[in-house]
Amino acid sequence: MWSYSFEIPTLFIMLIILVFFFSRPRLAIYRNTLFVYMIFTETFCIIFDLTASLACNHYKVVPIWLTVVLNLLYFLFFFTRSIIMYFFTVAVLNANGPLNVFFKYIISIPYCAAVVLAITSPFTRLLFYVDENGYHAGKFYNAVYVVGFFYALLSFMYLLVYWKRINKRRGLYSMLLYNMIIITALIVRLAFPTYLLYDTFILMGIIFVFFAFLNPEYYLELRSQVFNSRALRQYMDENIGKLDCICLGIVVHRYHVVRDIYGANQTDAGLNMIGKYLKQLFPKDIIFYYRKGRYIVLLPSETDVEEYYNIIMERFLKPWKSDEAELYLTAGAVTMDLKNNKNSADVILSTLVQAMAVSGEDENKQLITVTDGDMNKVINDTEIRRSLEAAIDADEVLLYLQPLVDVNGKVVGAEALARIKDSAGNIIPPGVFIPLAEKSGRINEMGEQIFEKTCKFIELVDMKKSGIEWVNVNLSPIQFIRTDLANRYADIAKKYGIDPKRVHLEITEESMIDDSFLQRQIQAMEEKGFKFVLDDYGTGYSNLARLKKCPFINVKLDKSLVWDYDKDPGEIIPSMVYTFKNIGFSITAEGVETEQMVEKMRSIGCDYLQGYYFSKPIPAEEFVKKYMSGER
Ligand code: C2E
Ligand code: CA
Ligand code: CA
Repeated sequence: MWSYSFEIPTLFIMLIILVFFFSRPRLAIYRNTLFVYMIFTETFCIIFDLTASLACNHYKVVPIWLTVVLNLLYFLFFFTRSIIMYFFTVAVLNANGPLNVFFKYIISIPYCAAVVLAITSPFTRLLFYVDENGYHAGKFYNAVYVVGFFYALLSFMYLLVYWKRINKRRGLYSMLLYNMIIITALIVRLAFPTYLLYDTFILMGIIFVFFAFLNPEYYLELRSQVFNSRALRQYMDENIGKLDCICLGIVVHRYHVVRDIYGANQTDAGLNMIGKYLKQLFPKDIIFYYRKGRYIVLLPSETDVEEYYNIIMERFLKPWKSDEAELYLTAGAVTMDLKNNKNSADVILSTLVQAMAVSGEDENKQLITVTDGDMNKVINDTEIRRSLEAAIDADEVLLYLQPLVDVNGKVVGAEALARIKDSAGNIIPPGVFIPLAEKSGRINEMGEQIFEKTCKFIELVDMKKSGIEWVNVNLSPIQFIRTDLANRYADIAKKYGIDPKRVHLEITEESMIDDSFLQRQIQAMEEKGFKFVLDDYGTGYSNLARLKKCPFINVKLDKSLVWDYDKDPGEIIPSMVYTFKNIGFSITAEGVETEQMVEKMRSIGCDYLQGYYFSKPIPAEEFVKKYMSGER
C-alpha cells in the first residue's frame, strides 16, 4: 500500500508557486525557461504519482489499463524531471561552454533509454507491470534509481567544478542545497519506497532555487514592474551576439539634481510613472530600468527609433503627475544597434552606460548614437585598466620626476609623476589611467606606491649635496579624504627614515569640498610634518577667502593660466600672484615651455617654475644622473 498523504499538501504548495510565478512579468532567459519546465514536470509528477498510487491501492476496482497509463505517465515525468533538474544546474553555472551539442546528446542517452524502457513496459514488463493482483515492479525497475542518481550526481559534479561562477553566496548555498536535496530524496525513496516523499523533497529543492534565482521580483523594479539592471545584465550575458534589435536608452537629465530638488519619494514616484508610460508605449518590448533615471528598451531592428524618440520627448514636455508627485523633467536618449554586434556584454553595457551618462549631463545633446568608436574606447579602457591592475599588483608603477626650478634657474625640487606600461611596454600617461584608478578605487594603492617610491628615492640620494630640497607628490581627492592618511603616510616616511617635510603634498581644489574637514586633515598631516601645495590653481572655483584659511606653502598656477598670460598679458594674473604672496604662499608656474614664458613668469613674481623648457618628467634614475651627479 502506498502512503500518499504528503502528496496533497505538496501539490497545493506547487500550485501557489505556479500562480505566483505566472502572475509576474518574466524575463526571457534560458534558466527561466528551464524553471518553467521544471515546475510543470514536478506538478505532473505529483498528480500522476498521486493518481497512480490511488489506482494501485484500489486495483480491484480500477481497470488495469488505467493503472498502466497512470504509472507510465508518472515514470515519463519522473525521468524528464531528473534530466531537467540537471540542465537547470548547468544553466545556473553557465556551464554550456563545454556542454556542446554532441555532449548534450551523449548526456541524454540514459534518459532516452529510460523513456523507451517505460513506454515498452506495458508489453515487456521490464520497468513495471500491472495484473489482477495489482502493481508490480519489473526486472529493470532500478532504472528509476540509475537515472535519478546519474543526473543528480552529474549535476552535483558540475557544481563542484564550476561553483565559482555563482557570485552570490546565497545562490551558491541554494544550489548546494538543491543538489543535496535531490540526492537525499533518492536515498529516502530507496529506503522507504512506499512513502511518497520524493516529490515533497524535490519541491523543497525547487523552492530553494526559486528564492535564489527565479523569484520574478528578483529581476523587477518593484513599483513600475519593468526589469532591473540585474535582469539586463543577465539578459545581455545570455543573448549577446544573437540579438537582432536596437537598444533605445532614455535618460532623465541631471538625475542627482532632480533627486535633490524633488526629494526621494517624489522622484521615485516620477520614475515609476515614466516606467509605466514606457510599458504602455512599448507593450511588446523588453524594458529595463538601469538606475539613476535611465531606461533601456530593446526594440526590433526595423523600428524607426527617431519617431519614438520624438514621441517620448513630446511626453516629457508635460509634467509627470500623480496624487503623490508632480515633476517637470527633461530627458535625452541614446541608441545603439545590437544587430551583428560581436562585442561582449561587458563592453556593450559599459559603452551604453557611458553614453547614457553623457546624455544625462548634457541637455543639449538630444539623440546620441553609439558608434563603433565609442565601443573601441571602452575596449581600450579595459586594456588600460588591466595594465593598471597589473602594474599596481606587481609594484611596477613607475616614478618619473620633473624638476622644479627657482628664479635663478637652479633645480630645487621635483614633482613625482606616475607612469605605467601597457602589455607591449609602451608608456601610458597618467591623464589616461588616473581617472580609471579613481573610478575603480585603486588610486589609494597607486598613490601610496608612488609616495613610497618617492620616500625610497629621498632616502637613497643625498638631497642636501645636490641642492634638491623637496619632492612634490600628488594626492587625489579620494586619497585626501581618507581619515587614516596621516598615519599611513607617516609610517611609510618612517620606514625609510626620511623627514616628512621633504615631501610636499599637492592637492587640487576638488579636495576642498568641506572646509572643516580640509582644515582638520591638513592639520593632522602637518602634525606629522608634511606640507601642502595647492595644485592646478585656476581650473576650479576657489575664492581667496577660503584659500587664506588653508595653510598651503605654495600655490601652483595651472598651465592654462600661464599660457593665457603668455599670449595675452593683463592685470589679473600679476595681481593674483601679488595677493597670494601677501598671504604668504610662494608661487609656482606650471607648463613653462619657452624662454619668453620663463621671463614673464619670473617678472610677475613667481618663485618657482616647472615645465618642458627645463625638462619633461623623466624616470627617477635618469633624474639622479642628470641633476644629482656624484650620487650613488
Ligand atoms: P599635474 O599634477 O598638473 O602634473 C603636471 C602635468 O603637466 C604633468 O603631466 C606634466 O608632464 C605636465 N607638464 C609639465 N610641464 C609641462 C609643459 O611645459 N607643457 C605641458 N604641455 N605639460 C607639462 P602628466 O605627468 O601627464 O600628469 C598628468 C596629471 O596626472 C598630473 O597633473 C596629475 O594630476 C596626475 N598625476 C600624475 N601622477 C600622479 C600621482 O602619482 N598621483 C595622482 N593622484 N595623480 C597623478
Ligand atoms: Ca601636480
Ligand atoms: Ca598641476
